[in-house]
Amino acid sequence: MNSPTDSAKILLRTREDLERRTLGHVIDGRVESPGESGTLDVLDPATEEVIAAIPRGTTSDVDRAVAAARAALPAWRATPSGDRAKVLTAIADVVDANVERLAALESLNAGKPLAVSRDEIPGVAEAFRFLAGAARALQSPASEEYTKGYLSLIRREPVGVVGAVTPWNYPLLTASWKIAPALAMGNTMVLKPSELTPLTTLLFMDLIADIVPAGVLNIVLGTGSEVGSALSQHSDIDLISLTGSAASGKAVVSQSADTLKPTHLELGGKAPVVVFDDADLTRVTDGVRMAGFWNSGQECGAATRILCAESIRDELVERLVAAVSTIRVGSAGDGEEVEMGPLVSGRQRDAVAGMVDRARQDGATVALGGDAPDGPGYFYPPTIVTDVPDGSEIATEEIFGPVVTVQTFADEADAIGRANDVAYGLAASVWTENVGRALRVSSALDFGTVWVNGHLVLANEMPWGGFGASGHGREMSIFALEDFSRTKHVMISTGQQ
Ligand code: NAD
Repeated sequence: MNSPTDSAKILLRTREDLERRTLGHVIDGRVESPGESGTLDVLDPATEEVIAAIPRGTTSDVDRAVAAARAALPAWRATPSGDRAKVLTAIADVVDANVERLAALESLNAGKPLAVSRDEIPGVAEAFRFLAGAARALQSPASEEYTKGYLSLIRREPVGVVGAVTPWNYPLLTASWKIAPALAMGNTMVLKPSELTPLTTLLFMDLIADIVPAGVLNIVLGTGSEVGSALSQHSDIDLISLTGSAASGKAVVSQSADTLKPTHLELGGKAPVVVFDDADLTRVTDGVRMAGFWNSGQECGAATRILCAESIRDELVERLVAAVSTIRVGSAGDGEEVEMGPLVSGRQRDAVAGMVDRARQDGATVALGGDAPDGPGYFYPPTIVTDVPDGSEIATEEIFGPVVTVQTFADEADAIGRANDVAYGLAASVWTENVGRALRVSSALDFGTVWVNGHLVLANEMPWGGFGASGHGREMSIFALEDFSRTKHVMISTGQQ
C-alpha cells in the first residue's frame, strides 16, 4: 500500500513523463504535431491546471485519417483471423505491462482515484484478450442447399472503415470496447477521443505503435462539433460508433443521415435500483455506496435512482446516509485511501449542482451533501436526495454525478411502472430474496442489463448496451463482433437440376 506521499510522487512523475511526449493526431502510423488550426488545453480536474495541449483537428485531418484507414483496409481484412488475434493479444500484453503508467495518467487527466484507474485499465487488456479469441470462434449458420441446386453460405465480413467517438468518463476503456471488436473483425478505424481526456488513448497509441500496422487505427483529436461531426458525415466511413450523451447520439444520427451509414450508439442511462421489502438492506447499502458513487457517479450504468418499498424507506435512507457519508473524497495524489475524486470539468460540476439546486427548490430534501466545496478542483460531495417529486428533472434526467435519489413504490406493478418511466434503458437492478419476483421484475424492466441483488458488475463475455434513449448496438461479447461486421449471403449453383 502506497502512502499519500507515494501517490503524490506517482502523479508528479506522470506529469513529467507527459511533458516529454509529443501529443498529436496519429495518422498512418505517424504522430503529427499541432497544425495551424491551434490547440485545445487539457486540464487536471483535481487542480484545474493545464497539463497538456492537443491539436484541434479539422475536416482535412479527418480526411487524411480516413484515407489512411481506407488504404490499410485491404491488407488488414485479408489477414487471417488468427493473425489478427495475435495482434490483439500483443496489444493486451502491452497494456497489462503498462497498467500502472496508464492508470496514473488516467487519474491525472480524469481526476480518478488511483484505485479506480487501477481497476479500470486491466479491463482494457481483457477486452482485447477476450475478443482476440472470440473472433476466431464466431460461427455463421451452416452452409446448406436451402434451394435445390444452390448451395448457400454466409460470409461474415468487416464493415469497412469505422469512425469511433469516445467519452471522458472511461476514456481508454470505452475506446477499447470499440477498437477491439472492430479490429478483430478486420475493420480499420479512425477514433476521436473526448477532447477533455485524450491522454491515455494517445499513450496507448505510443505503446502499440510497433504492434498494429500503420493506418489500421488512426486518432484525430479535437471537438465533437468539428472532428466528431466530420467523422459522422464522412462519405468514406462505413459505420459510426459513439459512446456519449443522448444529445450527441441525436447529433450523430442526423449528421450521418445523408450518407445513410449505420450508427452504433452507447448513450446515457438513468438506472433504477428497485428495492423490495424483503431485500437484504446491508447488501443494498453496500451496493449503492459503490455503484452510485464509483467514478464520482460519472457512469452510464450508475445506481442513481432508488425506488424502494414504502415500508423500508426510512431505514434504507438512514443506512445509506450513514454508509455514503464515509466515502473518502480527494485527489488521486492524496493517497490510495481516496475513493472518489472530482468531476471531470467545471461544466459537469455546475450541471450536477444545478440539478440538485433545482430539486431542492422543487421541494426535494437533500439528506446528504448537496453543496460544492470552495477551492480548486471540480469537487462535488456524495449526495442523497429524498422526497423527490414524481416526473421532476432529477427523477428523469441523467445526473452523471455523485447524486442518488430515493423514491418509493406501492407494489410490484407500481415499481415496474416507475422504473420503466424514463426515456433511458441502459441498466437496472432488482433487490429481493424472492426468486419468482426477481424473474418477473427483471423480465418486465426495459433495460439492456438487469442485475438481481447486485449493480454495476460487468463481464467481457456478456453484452453491454441499452434500449430507447440509451441507444442501440452492443459492446463487449460476441454481440459486439456482430455489430462491427456484416453478413453476406453467397449462393452457388451446383449445376444440379
Ligand atoms: P458527450 O456526448 O458530451 O461526448 C462524447 C463524445 O462525443 C466526445 O468525444 C465529444 O467530443 C463527442 N461529440 C460531441 N458532440 C458531437 C457531435 N455533434 N458529433 C460527433 N461527436 C460529438 O458525452 P460525455 O459527456 O463525454 O460522456 C458522458 C455521456 O456518455 C453520458 O451521457 C454517459 O451516460 C454516456 N456514456 C455511455 C456509456 C455506455 O456504454 N452506454 C458509457 C460511457 C458514457
